[in-house]
Amino acid sequence: MKVPRLLEAGSLEHPMVIVRSGFWQFNAAGLFHGDQALVIDPGIYPEDIALLGAAVTTRARSGPPRRVTQVILTHSHHDHIRGWSHFPGAEVIMPRVAAEKGPDARARIVAAKAKVDQRLGIEEKPFAYPHADRTFDRPLPIQLGELEVQLLPLYGHSNCCSVVWVPALRTLFSADYLVTPGTPYCRWEMPAMEAALDWLARFVEDHEVETIWPAHYAPLRGPAAIRAGLHQDREALRILRSTCEQGLAQGLSEAEILRAATQSARAWRGSDSKASRLQDLDNAQRMLASCRA
Ligand SMILES: [Zn+2]
Repeated sequence: MKVPRLLEAGSLEHPMVIVRSGFWQFNAAGLFHGDQALVIDPGIYPEDIALLGAAVTTRARSGPPRRVTQVILTHSHHDHIRGWSHFPGAEVIMPRVAAEKGPDARARIVAAKAKVDQRLGIEEKPFAYPHADRTFDRPLPIQLGELEVQLLPLYGHSNCCSVVWVPALRTLFSADYLVTPGTPYCRWEMPAMEAALDWLARFVEDHEVETIWPAHYAPLRGPAAIRAGLHQDREALRILRSTCEQGLAQGLSEAEILRAATQSARAWRGSDSKASRLQDLDNAQRMLASCRA
């Protein structure tokens, strides 16, 4: 286990906690107000989840620890749903589509989680797919003491994704959107991903979002960084789309189109890595499928 780090420690003025996991630079998040706390996608290792729970219940507090009253799961991918049952008595809230995944999808997700556990040497009691106490398929405002928290469905990264907006902190927890600007992570259909990024671009302007915390990697701080990140992702998809459309119009083979598309994505980003190459190819395949549809 790599030791988790507290990236945001939480204070009365800024009642928010971020725990950075040693795996996939995962950012587990928590919020608190008065004697209540909530957690969002609560971490990978048991130690991440324990640190998040301890911080969110005790930071900026002299009395007894707060109660964790809600566990929010942004979507059903295995790195986001771990720890859902680590907070006894808390209400588990997730998008309806995620809560209603069928037996095959659940089995795939649980198996993917088990594989990562094995790789990381995590030994836990048998893991069950989350049981949601409450679901949403439209914006759901919830109260944490006097702090308003809005759960907003946003499909595109997956068919079951959502983001979390905290108006008082001008902070958006963006799940797997804007994780690595320039390399959008689409695990579903490209038109939905493009629409999700358009929606995010409008949302951040309309709501004067100050900080975006994706579920992995670094936060985007300030309107300029947020605009730049969104531009990186939206342009990457625009370039992919136009490369695929041109390739189809020219009658190129699938392999030729995918090569051209991944090269154009890499050139736009201006950087290269094994992980981004894999994602470029996956994005290109999804984009080509959507151009043919
Ligand atoms: Zn995901």
